[in-house]
Amino acid sequence: MKTLKALFGVSAALAVSLLATSALGQTYPERTITMVVPFAAGGPTDTVTRLVAESMSKDLGQQIVVENVGGAGGTLGAGRVASADPDGYTLLLHHIGMATSATLYRKLAYDTLDGFEYVGLVTDVPMTIVARKDLEPTDLKGLIDYMKANKDTVTVANAGIGAASHLCGMLLMSAMETQFVTVPYKGTGPAMTDLLGGQVDVMCDQTTNTTKQIQGGTIKAYAVTSPARLDNLPDVPTAEEAGLAGFQVGIWHGIYAPKGTPAEVTERLSKSLQVALKDPNVVARFAELGTAPSAEEEATPAALKAKLEGEIARWKPVIEAAGQYAD
Ligand code: ASP
Repeated sequence: MKTLKALFGVSAALAVSLLATSALGQTYPERTITMVVPFAAGGPTDTVTRLVAESMSKDLGQQIVVENVGGAGGTLGAGRVASADPDGYTLLLHHIGMATSATLYRKLAYDTLDGFEYVGLVTDVPMTIVARKDLEPTDLKGLIDYMKANKDTVTVANAGIGAASHLCGMLLMSAMETQFVTVPYKGTGPAMTDLLGGQVDVMCDQTTNTTKQIQGGTIKAYAVTSPARLDNLPDVPTAEEAGLAGFQVGIWHGIYAPKGTPAEVTERLSKSLQVALKDPNVVARFAELGTAPSAEEEATPAALKAKLEGEIARWKPVIEAAGQYAD
């Protein structure tokens, strides 16, 4: 009798919780969703997020508002989402920095792998090594010589330790065996403004942020970090062609939710993300900016989790060899 009662108690609780989650799956979302970009407005992560959020809003029937929480290479914004209510109304769109920060930072306010639920991968995008328009060198080899000769005065912008621009700069320093002066910003949106204004000399940033400026001749491009040249920037050599053997970096983005967000919600968001990545407007704008949308099977919770795990393992030894950490 006791056992029966206990059994009944358990199954009743299970039934209530199943009812609650399936009801949630049907009604979500009922109000505005916030998607945190862990960098300043106007940069590449911001651009990707705004395009995807606009399209997902249409599919979900609720507005997704974008909130820029820049600083500390993306870790402030990630921390803000990790501690938000796990109800599906606060999300994070972050890039490769989610993986590199796990090793770069001795202490983080969140657990990278275990502190989030996963929605799916969003893009894959290469970087470009660029400089202010009037910097003298005309090719990558010249730029490297120039940077070595002026290592105390040449300034290299990045979006803080953990940003993609920081990772690319760190790889460049290792390849050149030279330390240079870095200038951290809350995102490469404001860093681009300073590059255009000539207040900073060099930057490595996603094509999402540099393609239009390179095409317009308002900044100089020395190399792309992709394995092959890009259709949009046919005159810009790959870093490999320009003399940096093996210098390849691909930046991926993913959408995360706070730990404990119901699977019905992350699955719904993943379906919506898949719709957005096929939206002709998103596809066309991404193409203009050399930004590839992730395939449908990648825009899933399992694919993002596997990617993050793989990328933490991939970059750990590289970061440890460079020996640069943040506290
Ligand atoms: N993606 C940039 C970086 O990692 C930051 C940004 O999106 O503003 O450097």
